[in-house]
Amino acid sequence: MDDCGGGGGKRPFQLARSLTYHHHPGHRPAAASRWRRQHQQHQLADEPRAPRPQAVVLYTTSLRGVRRTFADCAAVRAILRGFRVAVDERDVSMDAALRREVQALLAARGRAFALPQLLIGGRLVGGADEVRQLNETGQLRRLLDGAAGQDPAFVCDACGGVRFVPCAGCGGGRKVFVEEEGRVVRCVECNENGLVRCLNCCS
Ligand SMILES: [Zn+2]
Ligand SMILES: [Zn+2]
Repeated sequence: MDDCGGGGGKRPFQLARSLTYHHHPGHRPAAASRWRRQHQQHQLADEPRAPRPQAVVLYTTSLRGVRRTFADCAAVRAILRGFRVAVDERDVSMDAALRREVQALLAARGRAFALPQLLIGGRLVGGADEVRQLNETGQLRRLLDGAAGQDPAFVCDACGGVRFVPCAGCGGGRKVFVEEEGRVVRCVECNENGLVRCLNCCS
């Protein structure tokens, strides 16, 4: 529990629970499911019979290093916007943990690492070629039937659409001072860029 290393006492850099986001594999699903549970309870109050929407997850990169990859990410993003569905875009250039996540997912299916990658309802749809093909045949529309709708003009207030926010624990500097120990340690709340996923728009 006490990630900063000190025992009890005053902890100046403790995060508000709502701003805490752990990137450790063991904590990540707990945080996500807790959020989902709260979200669902809210939904259930309004619409008791509404089925749970299928998550649309798109792994991308915002790095322009490989022109083809960058163009493919933009193309798939544009196709999905046309369907007006909510997309949980995961930019791997913002967070090494997201890169490892999609690498593991592809490796488990015996596929080479490539971006973008689309998942609908936990099922791997594939990369840009697959998405384009499914779109042309009309199958993509069917796959997206159960997805939550979202206005393509929606921009998250909390992160401005970046889907990451500077870590509140360390201010994005990745270092926190532990008063009890009188030393500076690496912040355990954020990723290698001093960022945490925006809880307002990411599940
Ligand atoms: Zn956001
Ligand atoms: Zn931090």
